[in-house]
Amino acid sequence: MIIVIDGPAGSGKSTTAKAVADKLQIEYLDSGALYRAVTLIYLEANRDSETFFRLLDQKKITFYYIDSQFHVCIDGASVTDQIRTPEVANLVSKVAAMPKVRTFVNELMRDAVTDGIYIAEGRDLGTAVFPDAKLKFYMDADLSERARRRYNELKKDNPGLTYREVKLNIAERDRQDTSRDKDPLIQSKDALSIDTTDLTFEQQVDRICLTINE
Ligand code: C5P
Repeated sequence: MIIVIDGPAGSGKSTTAKAVADKLQIEYLDSGALYRAVTLIYLEANRDSETFFRLLDQKKITFYYIDSQFHVCIDGASVTDQIRTPEVANLVSKVAAMPKVRTFVNELMRDAVTDGIYIAEGRDLGTAVFPDAKLKFYMDADLSERARRRYNELKKDNPGLTYREVKLNIAERDRQDTSRDKDPLIQSKDALSIDTTDLTFEQQVDRICLTINE
């Protein structure tokens, strides 16, 4: 069984979905982390398409959720920290727009979600990857609020980073994610909307848990 949360960057999907997973003792799947891992492979290929797709065929991406952290490995080596760098954040939407990359990540996710109960978050899970999901949520918030949250998350590990850079990155990713040809970011018709601009974190988690338990 799968529950999905889609929405733009910084809308609170990851933190909320993780808290829901922990509270309800279910599995968590972060599809953005998989696109970020694929972006590392694109960087390893020096942005050369031919080399990139060859490497993508050869490498094995695995992932697991433990102690409230989603871990991603490439050929058994953890890349959980590397996928969060500004370099990856600036490139990931471009890589994620490639149709072959989307097919690759979708297969990876569908193969993983065979048994158990999952809460998964991303951009196109309710529309394209898991259209038959049991429950669908769409989380959104004002751009400034989303940038503020993301900046607060990232500043500890990236001392030179500014709020303005984070806001520009998020706005640009929104633009690329909503305008790509294959599976753009769009609210699924049957998804429940949650605007988190004025909600506390606890309110977001409670709203989702209550709906799941209804
Ligand atoms: O969720 P996160 O911000 O880590 O996602 C990184 C990027 O991966 C997004 O900006 C988007 O370009 C891409 N993505 C996607 N489809 C998903 C999840 C993420 O295109 N389902």
